[in-house]
Amino acid sequence: MTAATHSTLFPQVPDSADAVLEGLDPEQREVATALHGPVCVLAGAGTGKTRAITHRIAYGVRAGILHPSSVLAVTFTNRAAGEMRGRLRQLGAAGVQARTFHSAALRQLQYFWPKAIGGSMPRLVDRKIQLVADAAAACRIRLDRGELRDVTAEIEWSKVTQTVPADYAPAAVKAGREAPRDPAEIAQLYAAYEDVKRERSVIDFEDVLLLTVAVLQDRHDIAEQVRTQYQHFVVDEYQDVSPLQQRLLELWLGERDSLCVVGDASQTIYSFTGATPDHLLDFRTRHPGATVVKLVRDYRSTPQVVHLANGLLSQARGRAADHRLELVSQRAPGPEPLYTEYTDEPAEAEGAARRIRELVDSGVPAAEIAVLFRTNAQSETYEQALADAGVPYQLRGAERFFDRPEVRKAGVALRGAARFGGNDSLLDDVVDLPSQVRAVLSGEGWTPQPPAGSGAVRERWESLAALVNLAQDFAAAKPGATLADLVAELDERAGAQHAPTVQGVTLASLHSAKGLEWDVVFLVGVAEGMMPITYAKTDEQIEEERRLLYVGVTRAREHLHVSWALSRSPGGRPNRRPSRFLDGLRPGSTATTGRTSTAGAGGIERGITGTRGSAPRRVQRTPARCRVCGRTLTDAGEMKLMRCDDCPSDMNEGLYEQLRDWRADQARRSGQPAFCVFTDRTLMAIAETSPDDEHELARIPGVGMRKLTRYGADVLAICAGQYGGGDTDQV
Ligand code: ATP
Ligand code: MG
Repeated sequence: MTAATHSTLFPQVPDSADAVLEGLDPEQREVATALHGPVCVLAGAGTGKTRAITHRIAYGVRAGILHPSSVLAVTFTNRAAGEMRGRLRQLGAAGVQARTFHSAALRQLQYFWPKAIGGSMPRLVDRKIQLVADAAAACRIRLDRGELRDVTAEIEWSKVTQTVPADYAPAAVKAGREAPRDPAEIAQLYAAYEDVKRERSVIDFEDVLLLTVAVLQDRHDIAEQVRTQYQHFVVDEYQDVSPLQQRLLELWLGERDSLCVVGDASQTIYSFTGATPDHLLDFRTRHPGATVVKLVRDYRSTPQVVHLANGLLSQARGRAADHRLELVSQRAPGPEPLYTEYTDEPAEAEGAARRIRELVDSGVPAAEIAVLFRTNAQSETYEQALADAGVPYQLRGAERFFDRPEVRKAGVALRGAARFGGNDSLLDDVVDLPSQVRAVLSGEGWTPQPPAGSGAVRERWESLAALVNLAQDFAAAKPGATLADLVAELDERAGAQHAPTVQGVTLASLHSAKGLEWDVVFLVGVAEGMMPITYAKTDEQIEEERRLLYVGVTRAREHLHVSWALSRSPGGRPNRRPSRFLDGLRPGSTATTGRTSTAGAGGIERGITGTRGSAPRRVQRTPARCRVCGRTLTDAGEMKLMRCDDCPSDMNEGLYEQLRDWRADQARRSGQPAFCVFTDRTLMAIAETSPDDEHELARIPGVGMRKLTRYGADVLAICAGQYGGGDTDQV
């Protein structure tokens, strides 16, 4: 296990341009030194593509060939952009813009809006689904939740492919899309959606790119201004560029050719939004003089992880697969990937949390562990399981760390202490820097132990703890550093948006994990229905799911845990099977068969389900069904509520209010946020079922053994109308 050390957190900045090249192999060096003309790097996961381009930028800047502010580096996720900024800064190339397409465009649009359009920019909506629902209502078309999601995806696809409503139907047929409704209806909904947005004076995510493209196309003066500012472009993860992003890139570039793109066609995972690896694969055709470099040495993962990654790709089909490159691990051997089968999803989450707890207890930094899943909806189960196991986790990426209110406030406090440190009685007796920082941040809510539970309080604490850790690492790397030095470091990091490592297990979707790496990766929910996801129907969609799994596998440096559950909820029918993509790759499976026997197979474990120690964990053993209509529930929120969201509620409002008051009181006493006591949904389910005894209460999702022991008596007394007020002050 490679623990993050002070030297990796605060590495020495290379002292010359040539020193920047020292950490590269010959092919990577070729990329880094090809500073003129178009460059294309085609390479597999973990081969150092991002490393090569960050070194290329740093080399150019340090050698005085590229002016930092003339370079724009673009990538696809905020996490990856944050990672790139950090790497650039460590190489002495701070000042280079590293952004997502979206944030680069947004910045330009905000800046040029008054000049190009006039007035101030409309508000940006972050979720379309409600607007689509309103558009459907205006068209008198009834859409269920799944259809809403699918229609929204069609609208997004239309926009990134620059398809207007009138062209939707023929364009969808041409692209081979399976329209979720009659294409004419989708076109109508799309047009109505645009109207709703206009009426409300809002713009959406895709509008940011569309409007920027329109401004740059129509206003040559503005395009020239942008081109004078940015002269060199570098694009990471280029396999996932959408036609709209490609158009924006072309407008930025103009007639020039200082463009360097890197990508891996086998990691194309955004086709559903219109992205295509064709731009990467056809780069040389469009830029005949391009320098093309291939990298195959995998520096990230052990031979065991690489073997699985290569195995997955060997079964892939399609254009991306035709260009696959066999990876060759450069690392020492490590453990075999571990495969675990669980009876149900909560048991899977508990199993993963238990293993993570063991790893953290044995000294693995939590920040070196990630749990990756297919859909964001899976996150909640893992948040709960990790919180129950007392393991810190982080959902937010490193992006915008310095914009968080608690971090800003902490910065002000540290600055004040640095200025008046000598006279501050708080710091009088404290000599070393980490202790000074702890003393100052105690006033901001930092405590040596994390607060119980998850949620906003926990997130605030994580931010402060990240600053405390940063101070410790800083002091270790620079003995004698003062509080003022730390404040200067924080200012510099804030300028470069170089967030400190947050000490928590990362919970992330596979899509948002691309480009990143961890020592230990848990790939969860690797079952048919999730991987490939049920709505992946066509061969292309299935191939994209396979690539998504490939992306997941290749995030692991050393330890890879793959797991799946046979049923969704405890007591449900065990009708799931492990993902077909693992057939022939995991022990005990064959390449062609459907069902596989896993019992006792080498490397495969059966998860311990439903128990922790000897205490029964979950009482509920039947599939979750709606109490009102009897439908089998699959949505996590509905399962908590024990009914469909739109089935009528039979809630006793008075009881609900009493429970809420009691919860607020409990939260106040224990210093936790209210939802750590019970979430709104659990409280609602309690008010609706009004349980008579412990057994009934325990059947309500969200009421585990721990909460039953702690709050059961109170809740039952409230339900029975016999609660006399809380004089128990348990924490
Ligand atoms: P992905 O396709 O997942 O984005 P990538 O090709 O961009 O991967 P990097 O993230 O740049 O790969 O590199 C993977 C890991 O290998 C990083 O930890 C990086 O520091 C390390 N690495 C890359 N090249 C070298 C090298 N020449 N020497 C030592 N370590 C290297
Ligand atoms: Mg990369």
